[in-house]
Order: sequence, then C-alpha cells, then structure tokens
Amino acid sequence: MASLEDIKTIGVIGAGQMGNGIAHVIALADYDVRLLDVSAEALEKALGLIGKNMDRQVKKDLITEAQKKAALARITTGTEYSFLSECDLVIEAATENEETKKQIFKLLCPVLGPDAIIATNTSSISVTRLASYTDRPAKFMGMHFMNPVPLMKLVELIRGIATDEPTYRTIHELTNKLGKDTASAEDFPAFIVNRILLPMINEAIYTLYEGVGNVRSIDDAMRLGANHPMGPLQLADFIGLDTCLSIMHVLHDGLADTKYRPCPLLVKYVEAGWLGRKAGRGFYDYSGDEPVPTR
Ligand code: NAD
Repeated sequence: MASLEDIKTIGVIGAGQMGNGIAHVIALADYDVRLLDVSAEALEKALGLIGKNMDRQVKKDLITEAQKKAALARITTGTEYSFLSECDLVIEAATENEETKKQIFKLLCPVLGPDAIIATNTSSISVTRLASYTDRPAKFMGMHFMNPVPLMKLVELIRGIATDEPTYRTIHELTNKLGKDTASAEDFPAFIVNRILLPMINEAIYTLYEGVGNVRSIDDAMRLGANHPMGPLQLADFIGLDTCLSIMHVLHDGLADTKYRPCPLLVKYVEAGWLGRKAGRGFYDYSGDEPVPTR
C-alpha cells in the first residue's frame, strides 16, 4: 500500500489549463512529474506556460531561480502510456467527458504497478463511477484542484464508495505537502464548490437573459455588493462556458431538480463557440487590450 513516503513519481494526464498547473505545483514540491497528453502541441504549450508562470513567481520572490530550474528539470512529457509505468500516483486531468476518462483508465491501468494510486481532477463526474472503470476502486479518489492551480489554496478531496482509508490519508498528506488546504466532500454531483458556485453563475446568466441587468451591472453588483473578487459572468468566462454547461448538466441529470436547468443563453453561447476567455469571446470580448462586455 502506497504511503506518502512511497510516492516519488507522479503522472499527470491532460496538459490543459488544469494539468499544467498541477504539474507546476507538484514539480515545485520536489516530485518527478510525467505529463501525458494525446496532443504533442498541448504538451509543448504546457511546458511554455509552466516556465512563464514560474518566472512570474521568481519576480514576486515566491521562489528562487534555482528552484524554478530544478522544478522544470523534473517535468518530462510523453504521449505513450508506457511512459507512466514508474508512477506511484497518476492524476487524471483530461477533458471533462466521461467516455474520454473511461478510455484513459482502460489504457492506464495495465501499465501501472499494483500499489499505484489513481486520482481524478473531475469537476463533477461521479468518482465512484469513474473508479469502476479501473482495476483498483479502493485506490482511486477525487482530487479536485481549483483554477489557477498555483494560486488557489483549496483541493477538494472526494472519496468514491470503495476508496480505502490509506489512499485517502496518503492523498490528504500529499495535498498538504503541495502547500494546499483540503475540504472533504462526499461523492454527489459536482461535490461542494461547484454544487454551490455553478447554480450562482447560472442564475447570473438568467439575470442577464431576463434583462434584469447587463454584463457590467451584474458583475459590478456581485463584486461591490457581495464582495466577490470577480463577477459571476467574468468567472464563467474564466472557467470556460462549455465546462460551466457540462457541470449544470451533471447537476440537472444527477439531482433531477428543475432548479438546476441550464440557462438557454448559456447553451446558445456554447453552441456559438463563445466559450469565454480561452475562445477570445464569451460574456466579454477579449480581442482588445481590455475585456469589453458583449451585452
Ligand atoms: P482543457 O480543455 O484545458 O485541457 C484538457 C486536456 O486534455 C487537453 O490538453 C487535451 O488535449 C487533453 N486530452 C483530451 N483527451 C485526452 C486523452 N484521451 N488522453 C490524454 N489527454 C487528453 O481542460 P481543463 O480545464 O484543464 O480541465 C481538465 C479537467 O479538470 C476536467 O475534468 C475539468 O472538469 C477539471 N477542472 C477544470 C477546472 C477549470 O476551471 N477549468 C477546475 C477544476 C477542475
């Protein structure tokens, strides 16, 4: 059974927004990181971003140039699963799609040693169901990092129904070693953070849809009136509107309550490809120097 001391090499699957941040914090905590993606281009982009984000930390005196260099040297990238065979823990952070994750676990399990732990960074999919696609449900759990990973303090820890105590304890200790705090959530749709956050964002989109306010007034109202660091529409653009919609679907399907129905305006934006910051347009237009509200 892997305990914290046994964990030396950590695999990360998916090198997108979340995967590159996870690789970043793990490498700075002195672990060897194996970052895998289907796309070689995504891997190259991730390495560039990690370097840039670490430069920013050096400038702010949060880390030294030597720490940055050592951490970058600990990250290797690959596209073949055999590349993960030495990993004591693998964190899956690929696209939020159950079929994609199922296929990943099918390829991953045969190359791993019997004691290796698998964690998933899913925002909303059932950890118990994802565990059932592996050969080790007892050594499988949710490790839900927040975006952007290097800045956000919390990791939500989710036990599947079969997760054993040593696995939970090891991941809990590891999370603290990464300098993060934890909140423990039971395995219900969208866990804690997104169960509360996404209905608020969806309601903000309804507020826009019904003409109660425009983009700026809604975001100003929540920033200045509720002391939120960013407005809900700005936050939706930051998370990605496709991810927001997918989480609302999981809540709606999983809890069968109409209060979780996705706002038709959110659906329309996703259908238009207006996915937020990553697409250059969402509730704001990001093509200029400053984001400009679109409604
Ligand atoms: P993203 O679209 O930025 O990146 C996903 C990456 O997965 C891409 O690089 C893609 O090439 C890769 N990928 C797709 N299929 C793959 C496969 N079969 N094998 C290997 N790699 C594959 O997405 P993201 O925002 O980084 O989200 C990743 C996960 O993290 C999702 O489960 C999401 O729900 C979760 N999450 C996202 C946020 C957020 O704010 N975006 C926050 C917490 C958790």
